[in-house]
Order: sequence, then structure tokens, then C-alpha cells
Amino acid sequence: MTPLERQRAEAARGFMPADEGAALYEAALLADTELGPLLEVGSYCGKSALYLGVVARDTDSVLFCLDHHRGSEENQAGWEHHEPDLVDPALGVMDTLPIFRRTVYDAGLEPWVVALVGDGPRIGRNWTTPLSFLFIDGGHGEEPARLDFELWTPLVAEGGILAIHDVFPDPADGGRPPYEQIYLPALEAGFTDVSATGSLRVLRR
Ligand code: MG
Repeated sequence: MTPLERQRAEAARGFMPADEGAALYEAALLADTELGPLLEVGSYCGKSALYLGVVARDTDSVLFCLDHHRGSEENQAGWEHHEPDLVDPALGVMDTLPIFRRTVYDAGLEPWVVALVGDGPRIGRNWTTPLSFLFIDGGHGEEPARLDFELWTPLVAEGGILAIHDVFPDPADGGRPPYEQIYLPALEAGFTDVSATGSLRVLRR
């Protein structure tokens, strides 16, 4: 990742702090992309796609970016992470896809970053390709987190990397579902810790 690429990722719209973004990039570098493509659950405006997309490019692989682009529960009006300008004024619903596309296009990563637009569980139930790298940063409610674990983590290839965002072992620091519904079950399923940076956890199968 060049200094300019890093700068661009840091400036992109989203909720990932710079140190966690750097750690996410380092985690993707650990992936053996011969095992399969990279995939992220929860792309929002494309910030994390910039950290991961350069790895897809440099390894001649693909990053799939899964999101319905209608915003998670916590992004809706009245919730903590709502950004009103992301609401499509004609429809009255959120639409982050145009910004995602623009972000990826501006970074020159379009050939290696493929958007999967739709309901995560519906796509997950029909997905069979093993993954060298999985990043889960989807809906932070209990049910979405549980489903992300259940449907996507079995697809991580042996030796593959799993990264999880917004993992807070201490309830005082943030919401429980990524920790309780994804991180702990992953350990139980045989993943082992590789690193922890802020709320980002990196594990290997
Ligand atoms: Mg997050």
C-alpha cells in the first residue's frame, strides 16, 4: 500500500480508525489468495474496501464486497450512526451504493473490487466458493451478527484469515453481538487469535 493509497483510505467515508484500517490491511496480507477470493460483509461507503482492495489487486485476486447498501439498523434515522445525507430523497431509504462505487472507482480498484448488492443471508446461503480472507463488519444487532457467523465463517478455507470489526470484550466499550455472536463462536469453532488492534480481531483457521 503506497502512502497515497493509505491517505486515500484514511480519508474515505466510514467508521474505521486509521490504526484499525492499517491492521486490516496487514491481516489481508496474511491471506494466501491461492485458497480463494477475499470477501467482506458490510461495505457501507467503501472505506475498508480500499484497504482490502489493494491486496486483491496486488495478488491478482478479487475482493467481494457484500452489502444491501440500505444501512444497518444502527445507521437508520434516530440511531447512533445515522448520516442523513445518505438517505435517497426520492425513496426515503438509505443508499450507500453510489458513494461506494465512486470511492472504489476513484481509487482505481474497480477491476478487483466486486460489489455484491443484496441481502447478506440470501447471498450467503447460495455461496459455495471457499475464501482466503473474510472480514465481518455487517449489522451489529444480535441476529445479523449470528447469521454472519453461521453463514460465512464455514466458508473460510483451512489456513484462511477471519477479521472481525467492533469486537468489544468489555461491555463498557461497545455493543455485544460481534464479540458474543462472532468472535467467541469463532474461537470455539477452531479459529485462533492472530492479532488485536482496537476493536479489530484477526484470527486464522
Ligand atoms: Mg465496523
